[in-house]
Amino acid sequence: MIRENLRLIQASIARAAEKSGRTPEEITLVAVTKTVPIAAIQETIRCGHNFFGENYIQEAAGKIPCCPPDTNWHFIGHLQSNKAKQAVELFQVIETVDRWEIARILNKYARQLNRYPSILIQVNLGRERQKSGILSEHLEDLLHRIGQETALPVLGLMTMPPYFSDPEQSRPYFQQLKELSMQLARKNLFADNSNVVLSMGMSNDYTVAIEEGATTIRVGSALFGTRNI
Ligand SMILES: *Cc1c(COP(=O)(O)O)cnc(C)c1O
Repeated sequence: MIRENLRLIQASIARAAEKSGRTPEEITLVAVTKTVPIAAIQETIRCGHNFFGENYIQEAAGKIPCCPPDTNWHFIGHLQSNKAKQAVELFQVIETVDRWEIARILNKYARQLNRYPSILIQVNLGRERQKSGILSEHLEDLLHRIGQETALPVLGLMTMPPYFSDPEQSRPYFQQLKELSMQLARKNLFADNSNVVLSMGMSNDYTVAIEEGATTIRVGSALFGTRNI
C-alpha cells in the first residue's frame, strides 16, 4: 500500500516536473506522518524514503528516536516557545518560523546545543485568522532581523493556502510565494539566494505547486490514507 502510493506520487512528481521544464531531483517529497504509526514510518523508510514531516513536538519525540539517525525530519506545525528546545534537538528543518520571538528562542537553543536546523519562514498568504504564518508585508523585516541577529540559516519560504477542493484555485497562492521569494532573493535575504527553498503543495495540490516552482512538497493522506484530523 505505502510502496504503491509512494511509486504513484513519485510518478506524478516526475510528470509535473517535466511539464514545467524541471527535473524530479529538484523536488523533495516530505512524507507527513501526523497520526501515522511508527510501523508505517519504518515501512516507508524501507521503501528507500528518508524525508518526513511532523506537526506536534510531543508526537515527534516518540517517533524520531525509533528511526535511523540519518532520517531527515521537518517540523511543519505551529511552534510554541516552550517547545523550541526540543524542536532544535529533533528536527533538521523547521518550516514554520513566523515571528521574531520564536526565531530568537530557536537561535538561543541552537547556540547552546551547537545544532543549527535549517529554517523556512511560514507565510499566511490567505490572511486567514485561524492560520499561523507571517503576513507578507512583514516578511522582509523579519528576514532582515534573523539575518542580522541570529546564526540560523534561512533557506526559504513555506505556505499553506486556504483549502480548496479544486487545486487550480491554489495556483495563484503558489505563484505569489514564488514571486515573493524572487524579490527577497534579489535583496540577498536568504542563506543561498540562488537556491531558495519553496515548501508548498499537499496531497490535493502538489502537482500544481510543482508547476509553480515548489522545491519541497508535504504529502500525508495521498501516501498513508485519510486521517481523522
Ligand atoms: C497535514 C499537513 C500536510 C499534509 O496534508 P495532506 O493533505 O494529508 O497531504 C502538509 N502540510 C501541513 C502543514 C500539514 O499540517
